[in-house]
Amino acid sequence: MESMRNIMQRSAQRLRRTFAKATTPREQITQALEATLRRASQHTQNAIVFVVEIDEFQALHRYYSGQDLTLILKILEDRLNGALLSRDMVRRLDGGQYAIVICPLRAYTQEDILVIAGQIQRLISVPVILAETQAKVTASVGCAVMKTEALPSGNAALEAARIALMEALSKGPSGLRLYVAQMGERAEMRRALGKDARAAMASGAIQAFFQPQISLCTKEVSGFEALARWQHDDRGLISPAEFLPVLEEAGMMRALGQTMLRDALAALQGWDRQGLKVPQVSVNMCGEELRHPDITHDIKAQLDQFEIKPNRLVIEVLETVYVGDMTDPIILNLNAISKLGCHIDLDDFGTGHTSIKSVRNFAVNRIKIDRSFIVDVDRDAEQQQIVKTILSMANNLAVDTLAEGVETDGEVAHLVKSGCGHAQGFAIARPLPVAEAYAWIKSHMMPPIPASISQRLQ
Ligand code: C2E
Ligand code: CA
Ligand code: CA
Repeated sequence: MESMRNIMQRSAQRLRRTFAKATTPREQITQALEATLRRASQHTQNAIVFVVEIDEFQALHRYYSGQDLTLILKILEDRLNGALLSRDMVRRLDGGQYAIVICPLRAYTQEDILVIAGQIQRLISVPVILAETQAKVTASVGCAVMKTEALPSGNAALEAARIALMEALSKGPSGLRLYVAQMGERAEMRRALGKDARAAMASGAIQAFFQPQISLCTKEVSGFEALARWQHDDRGLISPAEFLPVLEEAGMMRALGQTMLRDALAALQGWDRQGLKVPQVSVNMCGEELRHPDITHDIKAQLDQFEIKPNRLVIEVLETVYVGDMTDPIILNLNAISKLGCHIDLDDFGTGHTSIKSVRNFAVNRIKIDRSFIVDVDRDAEQQQIVKTILSMANNLAVDTLAEGVETDGEVAHLVKSGCGHAQGFAIARPLPVAEAYAWIKSHMMPPIPASISQRLQ
């Protein structure tokens, strides 16, 4: 009987002949998958496809020259190739992505596959040594198994791995997901949302809700954060977790930023006209917006249009947005925005790796202590220690502080006692449509201190 080894060698030769005809890396991968699928009907093995994407690839792209970047990508590809068997395949796709097909001799369990994906991540994370520097990157991985998910073609399997990668990236850096059918359904929903996105933005269905922030010292409203909401005709109110990836994929984040800035400044102007005391309004901005050369000009134009002083606008920046050095366009733009007079809040503080560096490197006015450190802060000694350390660091750096995601009276009381500057969260109010925010401010105007809050703050 013909040995398994001979069968594999013949099929490897067949694969090589097939790939000689295939033109693009993507075609080569899908054909490798289909060839394995044909083999799989005769033997027990199945094909596994991994799509690997370097985390924050755009930042890497900005940071390294074309030549260095090409070299880094090639070294990583060689590294992956070196770890594979001859019947497996790795191809570089666009935008810092690699596709890998593995054709094991036995059916792999989910655990086996995740172990391999973890090995791929470890290979990528070994620093790449260049002439004068070294690059250290991480990667997110999406994987799909051809047989178990009944994916009918190489294209479908590759697409499934890409869908899993999308979910992995949203949990990244170093995210990892194996495709399951529900991911396909979610991707279908995102595709459907993607079709409606432009019309929704144009019609005003995507708009800002406003969540109050209070000063824990004066107990007064110190500002509002604008948070995006999509009022969908069929699906009702959709949250940013669901639609931001859709807008990102559609290249609409700048359009969202413009809409949110306009809504926020219009709301502030409206509150001023009604005699309500709201010192400032905050808008979230992502890396794509902050990298754009026109961002400072756009902000200034909108401030002028609504006749709002720059120091009443806060730009919220995730600390993970900061990656490069002082020549990074994001840092340059943030410095220009700060020079214009706007304030900068560092969002989700404590969740990234670069916290203190970020505070030092751009003109941060306030840090927003991530909700994960605030939960149970009145009862949990470890949380208390973390918050105390952050507050003391902020004090040393002379930046203000805001605790986010404050949900209970006990947490509010503990934060007051600890000397935290401001608080935001369900304990104070949920994000509200602009009309309800008007009513909320009116009912909470100082003096008198609103009973619901003053009791908590005593
Ligand atoms: P974020 O900037 O950290 O915003 C705070 C999130 O926490 C909001 O979720 C808010 O509704 C929620 N939150 C507020 N208080 C509490 C609380 O007490 N408990 C809990 N569990 N959650 C609380 P949301 O509105 O779903 O927004 C999620 C994220 O989406 C935001 O996180 C922000 O990163 C992003 N986002 C929202 N709007 C925009 C936008 O206009 N542009 C950009 N680039 N990102 C946005
Ligand atoms: Ca925020
Ligand atoms: Ca936050």
